[in-house]
Amino acid sequence: MVRTGQVRGEQVQPELGAVGRGLGLLADTWTLLILQRAFLGATRYAEWREALGISDSTLSARLRALVDAELLETTPYREGGRERHGYRLTERGRDVWTLLLTTWDWEKRWTSREVPLPDIVHRACGRPAGVVTCCASCGAPVGPRDTEVRREPGSPGLELLARRHPRRTRGRLPTGGMSFLPGAMEIVGDRWGATVLGAALTGVQSFSCFESVLGISPEVLSDRLRRFVELGVLVRTGEGAYRLTDKGRATFPIHACLVEWSHRWPGEVDGAPIDVTIRHLDCGEVLRVRLQCDRCGAAFTRASVHPGR
Ligand SMILES: [Zn+2]
Ligand SMILES: [Zn+2]
Repeated sequence: MVRTGQVRGEQVQPELGAVGRGLGLLADTWTLLILQRAFLGATRYAEWREALGISDSTLSARLRALVDAELLETTPYREGGRERHGYRLTERGRDVWTLLLTTWDWEKRWTSREVPLPDIVHRACGRPAGVVTCCASCGAPVGPRDTEVRREPGSPGLELLARRHPRRTRGRLPTGGMSFLPGAMEIVGDRWGATVLGAALTGVQSFSCFESVLGISPEVLSDRLRRFVELGVLVRTGEGAYRLTDKGRATFPIHACLVEWSHRWPGEVDGAPIDVTIRHLDCGEVLRVRLQCDRCGAAFTRASVHPGR
């Protein structure tokens, strides 16, 4: 049984809601790094293997899950007279670009590293650019304080994530170049980590409140809170609560993009019930994200951004 990519299979057993499924599919380090490499041009097994230094068993399992979840599709090619197959992004796979772009932008701005991550270059203005996150409905810039996050009443609980997905593997991760995103992968490369931080963005602060809202085990919760304090995205207050730092609040666009992708694909297309909604308070609309260039103000498109040197 494939554990991570059950979009179609899940229609038979509708357990998780749209965002729960989105988290289950995307909030995994290897999955995100494989997708990132696909955006950078990888189409063949050997290219991922070489770029990521990933084990055969992990790579095969993740590629299979991504094909099952319809984020990648196989495509035949001939090599040395033999028929083989490569992989390419589907429409729902290509639509992950906003999540990867905001993840990159956060890592670039908020982590210090010996070898800097390449800039994002905006083709339209030709300059290295940062991302400004706006509401597509009214055009205003948005952050966590301008929005309200709501769990839809009666929607499936996120605690199902624990049953459906294995614990994260703390295997060896890439240590060089564009795939070295250690901070961002703590934020979004782990299902429970992403869920805990998402709850913090909605205003949850106390240990018991995280526990009851998420249905998370105390061990897993302690571990993720400790990691987030070490990473500087949460601080512990005197009352034993956890508050977001500026660095933590800056992860909002990553979460907003994950929620939007989940509404569109597991939600609208696959029919999973909407479990979490982000609303822009100023205009009252459900948040659809517009990512724009901090240099020229134009909206980014998938084809208009590329990594520089
Ligand atoms: Zn708005
Ligand atoms: Zn620009």
